[in-house]
Amino acid sequence: MMGDDLAGTSTGGQNGTAGSPVNGRAPAGLRPGQLAPASQGSHQPYLSLRAGFDYLVVGAGFAGSVLAERLASQAGKTVLLCDRRNHIAGNAYDHFDDAGVLVHRYGPHIFHTNSERVFDYLSQFTAWRPYEHRVLANVNGKLYPMPINRTTVNMLYGLNLATEEECAAYFASLAVPVAQVRTSEDAVVSKIGYDLYEKFIQRYTRRHWGLDPSELDASVAARVPARTNTDDRYFTDEFQAMPLHGYTRMFERMLAHPNIKVLLNTDYREILGLFPFRHMIYTGPVDEYFDYRFGKLPYLSLDFKHETHNVPVYQPAAVINDNFPGDAPYDRVTEFKYLTGQEHHKTSIVYEFPRYGGDPYYPVPRPENADLYRQYKELADDTPNVHFVGRLATYKYYNMDQVTAQALTLFDQLMGARAEAA
Ligand code: FAD
Ligand code: UDP
Repeated sequence: MMGDDLAGTSTGGQNGTAGSPVNGRAPAGLRPGQLAPASQGSHQPYLSLRAGFDYLVVGAGFAGSVLAERLASQAGKTVLLCDRRNHIAGNAYDHFDDAGVLVHRYGPHIFHTNSERVFDYLSQFTAWRPYEHRVLANVNGKLYPMPINRTTVNMLYGLNLATEEECAAYFASLAVPVAQVRTSEDAVVSKIGYDLYEKFIQRYTRRHWGLDPSELDASVAARVPARTNTDDRYFTDEFQAMPLHGYTRMFERMLAHPNIKVLLNTDYREILGLFPFRHMIYTGPVDEYFDYRFGKLPYLSLDFKHETHNVPVYQPAAVINDNFPGDAPYDRVTEFKYLTGQEHHKTSIVYEFPRYGGDPYYPVPRPENADLYRQYKELADDTPNVHFVGRLATYKYYNMDQVTAQALTLFDQLMGARAEAA
């Protein structure tokens, strides 16, 4: 699937059956939309659309934008980047709302990573605002630090555990032996027992995923492990910061290269055959690309309810989760000014309501979905000149930094393949 070999380039869901190129004729031996191998060098003074593009990148989120940027700036490739939404930045998109408050349209996005490479890479396109995220869990109307830490346990049970050792011993006294940790329930109860599990994990997880933790991979709840110390930050990564002027500004700078053309409000299938290209980078849902050949891969969606309040501060933390009894219809409420540091006499918040069937946001990590994804992955691996990358296309519950790392790795592979072919 790597390299400059054009034979068999797929043109999308209909694999090679897409419409005609601009002049209505495909050159001999090529499919509509495919180009003959590039003959001229890169860095032309302007792009000739008649000459087509080296790459069609589908999706302007982290995966697509990182690849577009690298291909254009490091390899001199010409890139057409399209997104069916009316904006760049994918789910990380932020904008100023009607009140002038910077908000994240698709829910709170906090940048955190242990990868220096990823942080250095993104730092070319943004300055940062140091930010450590904190979350409170609502249990029976009282707010507790989340992830569960020593303070949480002391508050909840009226204890006075003073050291990590005491707290570890307490957790051990609550823990339930599990022979093999497979599910999220196993992951939690084997460390901290059923009471904390029921209060902080089970209801939240059931509402969010529509599944009990016993039906989800251990990796899901492992994202928020209990701690024996009093660290109340949500993440412990080495680099924790927010793009100083927001994500959208960062993406604008990534894509501000003369070799990159951006086409919004455009599903890639609408332009197949209109703009010829040699390779495709695809970052949409993998099952959709293959017309759901093996059935639909479950993706969880969310509805967002944005509100602006006429007060400077709305709630005591950036995010408040609804955990127990967990009967709110939403998972969590986020107040954006904590994240962005913006000063404003009003404040804007967002509620997240889980639902199935809307825009795909989360892959659902459980064994049967992994099996189904494996079938699609085989197809993807056998589709020459189309590269699948990102959270939806590789069906991975990845954070922004992981998607960035995945895209940088794919770029290295593409360049390696090019060097080998030379
Ligand atoms: P996306 O951002 O989904 O981009 C894919 C793009 O492809 C979309 O814009 C879509 O419109 C476009 N597309 C799809 N199909 C087509 C098509 N046929 N034609 C044209 N365009 C198409 N990560 C963190 O690191 N920290 C967080 O705090 C965090 N919070 C999150 C909160 C929520 C509510 C959600 C949903 C995710 C969160 N994430 C967070 C994860 C983060 O959003 C993803 O890791 C990242 O955005 C994935 O980037 P991507 O490019 O793979 O996908
Ligand atoms: N989780 C939970 N209670 C919480 C917070 C998280 O049970 O108060 C579980 C839940 O299953 C959630 C998962 O941990 O889906 C991962 O949480 P995270 O905050 O990383 O979710 P995301 O920000 O990706 O929605």
